[in-house]
Amino acid sequence: MAGFDPGSLPDLLRLYYRRLFPFGLYGRWLRYGDVSKNYFQRREFSFTLHDDIYVRYQSFNSPQELEKEIQNTCPYKIDIGAVYSHKPIQHNTVHMGAFQAQEKELVFDIDLTDYDDVRQCCSSAEICSKCWTLMTMAIHIIDRTLVEDFGIQHRLWVYSGRRGVHCWACDDPVRKWSSTLRSAVVEYLFLVKGGEGTIKKVTLSDNHVHPFIRASLDVVTRYFKEYALVGQDILGDKDKCEKVLALIPEADRDFLRMEFCKKTNSVQRWEVLQKKKMVHTEREIMLQYCFPRLDMNVSKGINHLLKSPFSVHPKTGRISVPIDLKKLDDFDPFAVPTVSHLCHELDMIGKGEGNGKETEGPQESSRKSRDYKKTSLAPYVKVFEQFVEEMEKSYKGQRLKGNGKGLLESEGC
Ligand SMILES: [Zn+2]
Repeated sequence: MAGFDPGSLPDLLRLYYRRLFPFGLYGRWLRYGDVSKNYFQRREFSFTLHDDIYVRYQSFNSPQELEKEIQNTCPYKIDIGAVYSHKPIQHNTVHMGAFQAQEKELVFDIDLTDYDDVRQCCSSAEICSKCWTLMTMAIHIIDRTLVEDFGIQHRLWVYSGRRGVHCWACDDPVRKWSSTLRSAVVEYLFLVKGGEGTIKKVTLSDNHVHPFIRASLDVVTRYFKEYALVGQDILGDKDKCEKVLALIPEADRDFLRMEFCKKTNSVQRWEVLQKKKMVHTEREIMLQYCFPRLDMNVSKGINHLLKSPFSVHPKTGRISVPIDLKKLDDFDPFAVPTVSHLCHELDMIGKGEGNGKETEGPQESSRKSRDYKKTSLAPYVKVFEQFVEEMEKSYKGQRLKGNGKGLLESEGC
C-alpha cells in the first residue's frame, strides 16, 4: 500500500501506543461499569508480536496494567477474546474443563473478499470506493436488524483496517448469549448461500416475503442503480449479462437475451427485466449482488477472537477506527489515518511547539489525551467516546434498579 513501509512499524507502534491509543476510553468500555466481579480481569487479549509470534490467553488486573504491557511489547495486532470463568493467564493452572468461555460481545465480521463473484472492480485484497458501497449496505442492513428485530442498543461498528468491517454488539444480555442463540441470529441473517460452485445463491420462498427481507430490500433499492447498474455495470457486456441470466427462470432467458442486445447499457437492460414483472427474480438478483455476506463462524462461537478497535492493520498501517453511523455514507476507508501519518502529525505538532521531546511522569496521561486530539485520529475517538458514554448511562440505570443505596455510594453522592 502506497506510503506505508512495514519495516518502520516497530518504531511507529511504540509512539502510537505511548501517545495516541485511547487507553482511557478503551478501559472504560471493557470494564462494563464493573457490574460483574473481575469482569475485566477475566477477559482474554491476544497479541501478535514481530515475526508472527502469536500470544494467546493474556489477561490483566486493570486497564492500566494492559496499557503498560501493550506499551512494553508493542504488538503488531491486538485481538479481543471472551470473558472466561477464570483469569485466562491462569488457564493452565485451572482444573481441566473448568476453564470456560462465559461471555462475549456478539460480533460480526464482513469482508469484501467474500463478494469476489459479484464485484467487478476489484478482487481479493483490493478495494475501491465503488465496492466499498457493499460494506455501506451491509452495515445499514445488519445494524437495522440488530436494533429493530433484536432490540440491541449498543453497537460499535469498526473499520477492519483493510477490506472489511466488524461489529461489536455489547448490551449486557447479549454478551451472555449462548452459542446456540448466536447461531440462531446468524442463520436469520444468512441469505446468500453456497460457495463458488453455486450459481444461484439467493432463493426466496414464493408467496411471502419476510419483513426482514423486505426491510433489507429497501436498503438495497436505495443503492442499486448507482452501485450495481452504473458502478459495477452488472449488465454491461455479454459475459456479465449471462451471469445475471443464469439467475432467471430458463423459460425467460432467450427473450431477455434478445432484448438486452437491443439496449446499450446496464440501466436500460435492467428496465427491460423490470418490465417483465418478475418481481421475485428481480429481488433475488438484487440480494445476490448486494446482500451482506458474513463470516458465520466468527459470530457463532463465544471464544472466537476478533481484532480490537484501534489496533493497527500490519499490512496497510491503517487504524481500526470506529465508524460514525450518522455519517455512514460518507465514510471513506482511504481517508482513515495510517500509523505513519499519525506519527508524522505528532512530529509536526512537536516542531510547532518547539518541543520534540517527550515528557515522562505524572503529566503523561493528560498529555496523551491531548495528543490524539491534535491528530486526524480525533474524530474517530469522538465516535468511540459517544459509544462508551451511552453504555455508561445504561449502567447507571442498572444500579438504580438493583440497589438504591449502592447507587448513591458508587456515584459518590
Ligand atoms: Zn472495487
